[in-house]
Amino acid sequence: MNPTAVPCPETTAAELRDVVHDLREVVFRTDAQGRWVFLNRAWTELTGHAVADSLGEPFQAHVHPLDRDCAAQLFTELLNGREEVRHTVRLLAGDGRLRWVEVWARPSRDAAQRVHGSTGTLTDVSERLRTEERLRLAASVFDGAREGIAITDPQGRIIDVNAAFEEITGYRREQVLGRNPSVLSSGRHDRAFYQAMWKDLVEKGAWSGEIWNRRADGALLAELLRISAVRDAQGRHTHYVAIFSDITGLKRQQETLERLAHYDALTGLPNRVLLSDRLETLIAQAARRREHIAVCSLDLDGFKEVNDAWGHASGDELLVQAAERMRQTLRGADTVARPGGDEFVLLLDQAQSEAEVAVVAERVLQALAAPFALNAGPARVTGSLGIALYPQHGRTPDQLLRNADQAMLRAKRQGKNHACFVADDDVQVSEREQHAQALRRALHQGELSLHYQPKVDARTLRPVGAEALLRWVHPERGLVLPGEFLPQIHGTELECEIDWRVLEHGMAQLGRWMRQGHDMTLSINLSAATLLHPQLATRVAQLAREHGVPPGRLELEVLETAALADLSAVVQTMEACARVGVCFALDDFGTGYSSLHYLRQLPVKSLKIDQGFVRRMLTDEGDMHIVRAVVGLAGAFGVRTVAEGVETQPHAQALTALGCDVLQGYWFARPMAAPALEQWLATQPH
Ligand code: C2E
Ligand code: MG
Ligand code: MG
Repeated sequence: MNPTAVPCPETTAAELRDVVHDLREVVFRTDAQGRWVFLNRAWTELTGHAVADSLGEPFQAHVHPLDRDCAAQLFTELLNGREEVRHTVRLLAGDGRLRWVEVWARPSRDAAQRVHGSTGTLTDVSERLRTEERLRLAASVFDGAREGIAITDPQGRIIDVNAAFEEITGYRREQVLGRNPSVLSSGRHDRAFYQAMWKDLVEKGAWSGEIWNRRADGALLAELLRISAVRDAQGRHTHYVAIFSDITGLKRQQETLERLAHYDALTGLPNRVLLSDRLETLIAQAARRREHIAVCSLDLDGFKEVNDAWGHASGDELLVQAAERMRQTLRGADTVARPGGDEFVLLLDQAQSEAEVAVVAERVLQALAAPFALNAGPARVTGSLGIALYPQHGRTPDQLLRNADQAMLRAKRQGKNHACFVADDDVQVSEREQHAQALRRALHQGELSLHYQPKVDARTLRPVGAEALLRWVHPERGLVLPGEFLPQIHGTELECEIDWRVLEHGMAQLGRWMRQGHDMTLSINLSAATLLHPQLATRVAQLAREHGVPPGRLELEVLETAALADLSAVVQTMEACARVGVCFALDDFGTGYSSLHYLRQLPVKSLKIDQGFVRRMLTDEGDMHIVRAVVGLAGAFGVRTVAEGVETQPHAQALTALGCDVLQGYWFARPMAAPALEQWLATQPH
């Protein structure tokens, strides 16, 4: 056999037809009217039509209508002497799909060289066209994208970048080809950042995040970047594609917002928000390292005068200059903040000793005391400084700032231009203030309520009345007893306010009980301040009327010590109350002066023997003597005795034996809410 493709002379026509039929391309022949006269088997593969069905049909019948005119035109040209045509048309396949086909055709001639049709091949190019289309699309995405795109080889050398890359980075394509993307690096990220990026790329095949780069002109460029690895069939990384958008504007905006939220617009100093942030961080750090920090509250003396005399613009000018002077005076690690107005706060990191802080404070005061050159003329102010040290004067930002404020106010009172360290008084004052605030809120939100503890007749053990005792139903701490929250507000307006509220509630409750048929007295505790209130008698009388309670059913308990504080005034209000029928008891009797002289002057109906004596009377002879003496004394003055804190039956029996009139204590009942008291009363002898 001849190994070449040239047919051997002995090749038969049948063999030739087999060869033609086995070709992948369609081989065709048409007559002069364009009707198929020969098609090989590839025709069926290409179009799905059987060859026998297609033969005799005009070729146009299988061409897409939009390509028919062009195909017919070219066919005419072939008939008219054109030697060859090559074009692409869409063929209609049997399943309704289109195939893109490249047509190559020549005229076929008879022995006389007359053209009687055409001969040629059809090649399916659908796949190739699709690939080309995809590539064109990819290219147009690459070129048209608004995101910058860079493609690197596996070693990270740039092999292509798009137009947006050039525009965003300012580098031309030729400048970066073959180079590493690190040419863009801004130096803002450390090695660990890039190591983590490469680790993700190698392990996960992708990394995304924000990155600071630098443009060709040196300006910083914030990018939102995604890098993906391109893999080959074996999974090896063949390329990396980095796509990024420019978010520099966005970042700047964010920074501006951040600044506005954390810095004072006038002086550029940290504001209250950032101040407490920093203080919190400093405290955490100092706690770890067992170091000290100083928190200085500074208020300008005479600032208001400058503002009033020369206007706000001058005031602002002075604040800016003062801020600058303070900043200059302190070390870089220290903070000057402006929480508002003419208040500043200095945070001194690592304040080793009071002496060291005092030196810094002195320097700051000196710096402020020098005249300020304002546009309107020279001005002078000074500073008053209060200094709180961590941890001695507080452990939270709030405590430290409040205590420093108190010390600053003291510095002002002491003549200004002066620094004071926090003293014990300041700490107590500010803690009391905080407590008062919480209690006031509790009062207004109805967290204060009354419990009632019964009192019984010592001889019959029948209930004779109850004492109203205040409770704070704290949302977090639960039930809080008065001993924990009343002493701190001693002598304040809030104390009076609470007493009035207790009087209102107590009287209303007593009114309800009276209407329910409980024949009893109600004892209400009063603070010294309320006892001195000139309107006490009038108000109590009014409340009694409102709630339909005979005033004699109300007993006001006043501490012996409170009653003696301002005797003549107390006697006046007590007498005014007594005139409207209200009774008084001296509470905790025996803990004050217990002077016979005073006792004679005060219009009291009962003495309440302090529970300390009662508790110890069976074990301590001295206390037993006191109890006996008080009972005797009361008898001599014609007043009743009430023993409180009766916790056991032997106590109750001993007190009764001594001649005590009324008993109150856990042995009989604990203080309880009104409904519980009603239930308790129902179980008692009448
Ligand atoms: P107080 O007026 O001497 O009230 C008696 C206190 O002794 C009450 O404590 C009561 O719960 C407690 N107690 C009663 N029986 C026993 C007992 O058997 N054993 C023991 N260990 N304690 C007993 P509470 O309720 O904590 O009140 C403490 C103080 O707070 C009162 O002492 C009173 O001075 C004051 N207080 C209570 N409520 C008010 C109020 O509404 N206004 C004013 N201004 N002060 C009030
Ligand atoms: Mg009492
Ligand atoms: Mg008492």
